[in-house]
Amino acid sequence: MDVSPAVTQDEPTCYQQLLELLHPEGLGCPECLARAGLYIHRRRRAPVLDYRCSHCGRVFNAWTGTPLQGTHRRPSEILLILRGIAQRQSTAQLARDLGCQRAALLQLRHRLERERPINGDGEYALRSTQRA
Ligand SMILES: [Zn+2]
Repeated sequence: MDVSPAVTQDEPTCYQQLLELLHPEGLGCPECLARAGLYIHRRRRAPVLDYRCSHCGRVFNAWTGTPLQGTHRRPSEILLILRGIAQRQSTAQLARDLGCQRAALLQLRHRLERERPINGDGEYALRSTQRA
Protein backbone atom coordinates (compact mmCIF):
# COMPACT_ATOMS: atom_id res chain seq x y z
CA MET A 1 0.00 0.00 0.00
CA ASP A 2 1.29 3.39 -0.96
CA VAL A 3 0.96 5.70 2.01
CA SER A 4 2.09 9.19 1.08
CA PRO A 5 3.62 11.33 3.82
CA ALA A 6 0.55 13.57 3.60
CA VAL A 7 -1.57 10.93 5.33
CA THR A 8 -0.36 9.90 8.75
CA GLN A 9 -1.87 7.91 11.57
CA ASP A 10 -1.60 10.95 13.84
CA GLU A 11 -5.29 11.51 14.56
CA PRO A 12 -5.06 15.11 15.86
CA THR A 13 -3.08 16.10 12.75
CA CYS A 14 -5.54 14.32 10.46
CA TYR A 15 -8.45 15.93 12.28
CA GLN A 16 -6.86 19.34 11.80
CA GLN A 17 -6.47 18.69 8.06
CA LEU A 18 -10.12 17.69 7.77
CA LEU A 19 -11.18 20.71 9.79
CA GLU A 20 -9.35 23.00 7.34
CA LEU A 21 -10.91 21.19 4.36
CA LEU A 22 -14.42 21.30 5.77
CA HIS A 23 -14.36 24.68 7.45
CA PRO A 24 -11.73 26.89 5.79
CA GLU A 25 -13.15 29.97 7.52
CA GLY A 26 -13.14 28.25 10.90
CA LEU A 27 -15.64 26.06 12.68
CA GLY A 28 -19.00 27.72 13.31
CA CYS A 29 -22.37 26.73 14.75
CA PRO A 30 -24.41 24.99 11.99
CA GLU A 31 -27.60 26.48 13.43
CA CYS A 32 -26.92 30.18 14.07
CA LEU A 33 -23.48 30.37 12.35
CA ALA A 34 -21.80 31.87 15.44
CA ARG A 35 -18.05 31.39 15.47
CA ALA A 36 -17.49 32.65 18.99
CA GLY A 37 -18.94 31.26 22.19
CA LEU A 38 -18.50 27.60 21.25
CA TYR A 39 -17.71 25.37 24.21
CA ILE A 40 -16.50 21.80 24.29
CA HIS A 41 -19.45 19.62 25.20
CA ARG A 42 -18.00 16.08 24.98
CA ARG A 43 -14.60 14.59 24.31
CA ARG A 44 -15.60 10.95 24.03
CA ARG A 45 -14.45 10.71 20.40
CA ALA A 46 -11.43 13.02 20.68
CA PRO A 47 -9.88 14.53 18.65
CA VAL A 48 -13.37 14.87 17.11
CA LEU A 49 -14.93 17.07 19.77
CA ASP A 50 -18.59 17.84 20.34
CA TYR A 51 -19.25 21.54 20.83
CA ARG A 52 -22.18 23.39 22.32
CA CYS A 53 -23.12 26.82 21.00
CA SER A 54 -23.69 29.33 23.80
CA HIS A 55 -26.01 31.37 21.57
CA CYS A 56 -28.54 28.75 20.47
CA GLY A 57 -27.60 25.65 22.48
CA ARG A 58 -26.97 23.46 19.44
CA VAL A 59 -24.57 20.55 20.01
CA PHE A 60 -22.50 19.66 16.98
CA ASN A 61 -19.09 18.53 15.78
CA ALA A 62 -16.94 19.31 12.77
CA TRP A 63 -18.79 16.70 10.67
CA THR A 64 -22.28 18.12 11.36
CA GLY A 65 -23.88 19.45 8.18
CA THR A 66 -21.17 17.91 5.98
CA PRO A 67 -21.09 14.64 4.00
CA LEU A 68 -19.19 13.16 6.96
CA GLN A 69 -22.08 13.64 9.36
CA GLY A 70 -22.73 10.44 11.31
CA THR A 71 -19.45 8.74 10.42
CA HIS A 72 -17.54 7.16 13.31
CA ARG A 73 -14.41 6.58 11.27
CA ARG A 74 -11.12 7.91 12.57
CA PRO A 75 -9.80 11.08 10.90
CA SER A 76 -6.86 9.15 9.40
CA GLU A 77 -9.28 6.67 7.78
CA ILE A 78 -11.40 9.49 6.39
CA LEU A 79 -8.34 11.11 4.82
CA LEU A 80 -7.30 7.79 3.26
CA ILE A 81 -10.80 7.34 1.87
CA LEU A 82 -10.86 10.88 0.42
CA ARG A 83 -7.45 10.38 -1.14
CA GLY A 84 -8.51 7.00 -2.51
CA ILE A 85 -11.62 8.51 -4.08
CA ALA A 86 -9.61 11.39 -5.56
CA GLN A 87 -7.18 8.84 -7.04
CA ARG A 88 -10.09 6.79 -8.42
CA GLN A 89 -9.14 3.73 -6.37
CA SER A 90 -11.71 0.97 -6.39
CA THR A 91 -13.87 0.60 -3.30
CA ALA A 92 -12.71 -3.01 -3.01
CA GLN A 93 -9.07 -1.89 -2.91
CA LEU A 94 -9.82 0.83 -0.38
CA ALA A 95 -11.72 -1.63 1.80
CA ARG A 96 -8.74 -4.01 1.72
CA ASP A 97 -6.34 -1.18 2.62
CA LEU A 98 -8.54 -0.10 5.53
CA GLY A 99 -9.49 -3.60 6.61
CA CYS A 100 -13.18 -2.78 6.58
CA GLN A 101 -16.35 -3.97 4.91
CA ARG A 102 -16.74 -2.97 1.27
CA ALA A 103 -20.50 -2.37 1.64
CA ALA A 104 -20.15 0.13 4.49
CA LEU A 105 -17.38 1.94 2.65
CA LEU A 106 -19.39 2.05 -0.55
CA GLN A 107 -22.23 3.77 1.30
CA LEU A 108 -19.90 6.51 2.58
CA ARG A 109 -18.25 6.81 -0.84
CA HIS A 110 -21.58 7.32 -2.57
CA ARG A 111 -22.52 10.02 -0.07
CA LEU A 112 -19.19 11.80 -0.53
CA GLU A 113 -19.38 11.60 -4.32
CA ARG A 114 -23.02 12.64 -4.47
CA GLU A 115 -22.75 15.63 -2.16
CA ARG A 116 -19.31 16.93 -3.04
CA PRO A 117 -17.90 16.02 -6.43
CA ILE A 118 -14.20 15.67 -6.99
CA ASN A 119 -12.81 18.63 -8.88
CA GLY A 120 -10.66 18.44 -11.98
CA ASP A 121 -7.34 18.66 -10.18
CA GLY A 122 -8.00 15.46 -8.31
CA GLU A 123 -8.23 17.51 -5.16
CA TYR A 124 -11.18 16.40 -3.11
CA ALA A 125 -13.49 19.37 -2.70
CA LEU A 126 -15.11 18.87 0.65
CA ARG A 127 -17.02 21.79 1.96
CA SER A 128 -19.56 22.30 4.65
CA THR A 129 -23.18 22.24 3.49
CA GLN A 130 -24.11 24.73 6.20
CA ARG A 131 -26.84 27.05 5.06
CA ALA A 132 -25.61 30.53 4.26
ZN1 LIG B 1 -25.66 28.45 17.53
